[in-house]
Amino acid sequence: MKIRVRYAPSPTGLQHIGGIRTALFNYLFAHSLGGKFILRLEDTDRTRFDESYVKNLYDTFNWLGFKWNEGPDTGGPCSPYIQSERTDLYKKYAQELLDNGQAYYCFCSSERIEEVRKKREAERSSETGYDRLCRSIDPDEAAKRAAVIKSGAGKTGESCTVRLKIPLGEKTIFQDQLLGDIEWLNDDINPDPVLLKSDGFPTYHLANVVDDHLMEVSHVLRAQEWLASTPLHVIMYRAFGWTPPEFCHLPMVMGQDGKKLSKRHGATSIDEFAKQGYLPEALLNYIALLGASYEESSDSKHPEIYTLDELARLFSLKKLNKAPAVFDYKKLEWYNGQYIRMKSDEELAQLCLPYAIKVGLFGGTLLKNNEDGEELTEQQRKMFLASMSLVKERLVFLNEAPEKIAYLFKEPVIPAKEEFIPKKADLAKTIELLQIGKEIVKELAQAGSDEQAENFIKAEAEKREIKLGDLMMPLRVAITGSRVSPPLFGSLRILGEECSLRRVQRSLDYLTSTH
Ligand code: GLU
Repeated sequence: MKIRVRYAPSPTGLQHIGGIRTALFNYLFAHSLGGKFILRLEDTDRTRFDESYVKNLYDTFNWLGFKWNEGPDTGGPCSPYIQSERTDLYKKYAQELLDNGQAYYCFCSSERIEEVRKKREAERSSETGYDRLCRSIDPDEAAKRAAVIKSGAGKTGESCTVRLKIPLGEKTIFQDQLLGDIEWLNDDINPDPVLLKSDGFPTYHLANVVDDHLMEVSHVLRAQEWLASTPLHVIMYRAFGWTPPEFCHLPMVMGQDGKKLSKRHGATSIDEFAKQGYLPEALLNYIALLGASYEESSDSKHPEIYTLDELARLFSLKKLNKAPAVFDYKKLEWYNGQYIRMKSDEELAQLCLPYAIKVGLFGGTLLKNNEDGEELTEQQRKMFLASMSLVKERLVFLNEAPEKIAYLFKEPVIPAKEEFIPKKADLAKTIELLQIGKEIVKELAQAGSDEQAENFIKAEAEKREIKLGDLMMPLRVAITGSRVSPPLFGSLRILGEECSLRRVQRSLDYLTSTH
């Protein structure tokens, strides 16, 4: 069997976790079996369509770094892959169902349909949806009245829609690859849904089924919220005399409170994650786990870290979970930290630079707010690169880097005197400790490695019979402006002897001053 799957978003919103999980599982499934992954734009809902959502779709996938084999931009044997460019096709297929008696024209106005709804509501009727009034109109008479398909060149007619004639008194049964046999009473299905709207545009149901058939989609992997539409689709496949694809409805993605994941839980749209400083690899790795499990990855040190290729090799519908997946922001953060630590200093610098420029880390020396950082001086570039090794182990998000290393680029504000004072010491003792610090700054700043610097300061502390921590604390505060900071020795090395000495002196002046 040729494996062909598709991601079929409607550009009516930003790309979010749920959609990307669907896209990713389709991609992984296709690649696990040497199949093809298709992107199809389902843009027939013209009232909610917005071009910016199409842009967001492409931007998101560019950022995430996985791609379809066939789609609007890549082309392919089933072009066009945009439904609004295929409207003639849908009309043709709606006509086919009209001709074989599986669909009918409906002339009811939206006002009438609303009246029916209100009346039923008032009567507390258990019936919902359309009351099938036009189902009994003689098809020949209806065809004469209808304008919907035959409109155009000189034809006029009554405004109408085309509805599916659901066979009543029967059951529709289909197999879901994850949920097993699903049975639905046809009388319980949304009564005779519209296939073709009065503006000649298809509804989701018609366009989706026609395209899945014409694009030879072998498996439909989609979110469980579409499960209720599937019996209807199966009825349509039968009405056309086509074999339906295999269906697999993916487990829901929930927040920690068991409710469907939404903005209330935190970021859900992918561009928000990107802005917050997530790495695409981390996001993809985590999303791949939402409702699926995999054998351990080949990286024995990091069994939970998977490359996209590895996920594609290990993905199997058999490893999907029926239970809803819970989106755990903390776990995603953990992944982000892991991926940050796997970056080289050069890679990390490149990733963090836009965030640094944005918050003005390099101050007025940046002439233009140039995202490439072309205006950085050589010295700033070098310092920025060197500073990566100081923060790599501490970052959860890329956008935290500028704040953590800000003290290297701007003299930190000198904190209150108490901040300099180690436990059990007083101000006089602290000044003494910082004076010793000043004497050894040169050796520390010029040490070849952290280890050498540490050995040196340890020996000094021992020689002078003071605790290492007590010697380091005032020095750390003087250099970094804080008791908690990235590694001191690395900071001294990056700042260099002159700048470090200046900072120590500044703090000494302050500590010895009377204010
Ligand atoms: N256009 C639908 C959506 O927005 C596609 C659902 C399906 O995969 O059938 O998700």
